[in-house]
Amino acid sequence: MSIIFNQVHKQMPKLNSLNYKDSYDLIYPNDKSKEGLVVTSVILEYGGGKSTFAYRTYPYMARSMFQVKKSYKDLKKNKQVGKKIVTLKDFELIKNYAQLLGVMHFGVAKVEKEMIFSNHAVLYDQAIVFSLEMDKVAIEKAPHKDAGHEVEKSYYKLGKIVNKVANYMRSLGYRVQASPPDGGDVNFVTLAKAANLGEIGNIGILISKVVGPRQRLAAIFTDASVSELDVNSKEDYSWINDFCIKCQQCVRTCPSQAIFENASKDNLDKRIDYKKCALPYGTTQGCSICIKVCPFSIHGYDRIKKGFFKSKSI
Ligand code: SF4
Ligand code: SF4
Repeated sequence: MSIIFNQVHKQMPKLNSLNYKDSYDLIYPNDKSKEGLVVTSVILEYGGGKSTFAYRTYPYMARSMFQVKKSYKDLKKNKQVGKKIVTLKDFELIKNYAQLLGVMHFGVAKVEKEMIFSNHAVLYDQAIVFSLEMDKVAIEKAPHKDAGHEVEKSYYKLGKIVNKVANYMRSLGYRVQASPPDGGDVNFVTLAKAANLGEIGNIGILISKVVGPRQRLAAIFTDASVSELDVNSKEDYSWINDFCIKCQQCVRTCPSQAIFENASKDNLDKRIDYKKCALPYGTTQGCSICIKVCPFSIHGYDRIKKGFFKSKSI
């Protein structure tokens, strides 16, 4: 099965290797950009391949890859000229449609070159960022087949959603590129932080006000400006860095010591060793212990924040 998936992955298109570059001005990464990893590929390469319930998750992995392929294929539906500004009225329509499909949290941001993976490129640098909640009950069982199943299902579901919303935006007159969560073109965590959806926690994933680290992220890029939309949260999440330095619960409970202690808040490279993570992740098809044990998952953002500032004032 792994061999088949690796072959499928090798066939996956990337924008910078397609002939789209002949007709569009691609935006390329810069020398600060990091290589983009596809979760499915990392798991297949380093994950041990011993999952006893892969029959439940492999179909979702395959469907996720299909959604990546579709996101590139649908680019041909873009018109020659599109709207140049995302209006608040259209943003509300887009948001309502995405909410109907299950998205819970939105923000807008500019894609900076260093966010683009060094082995990718994007068509447009204005982004709407989407976050999809993963089921609480399933993640609380981690490491368990239900948690793993929920992780892979969420990747697939959000990929399908951004492709649908992208086509909806096209029908409203925008030129867009959907970027599904697995195999996406940019670092969604830094993009989501720029959209003020939350702060990057010690685990290297976004901690949001809504569900802490229990979410998946994706985006839609457009050439229509989003900078005039005053829709981002005004919450100041910067205190989470100090909280993480004191907490370190994810570091202590990770079964493969994959999470770096006191990870630098500016350097994602030093937060997690993906090769070490891949083994428990692969053998349980999604591990997620670090998400489960994070106090933001257990107690919720508001309670943690209240306790943190109370302890500082004593
Ligand atoms: S998913 Fe599991 S193995 Fe990977 S970092 Fe989290 S706790 Fe560690
Ligand atoms: S478990 Fe603690 S250190 Fe790790 S991300 Fe959550 S709050 Fe931060």
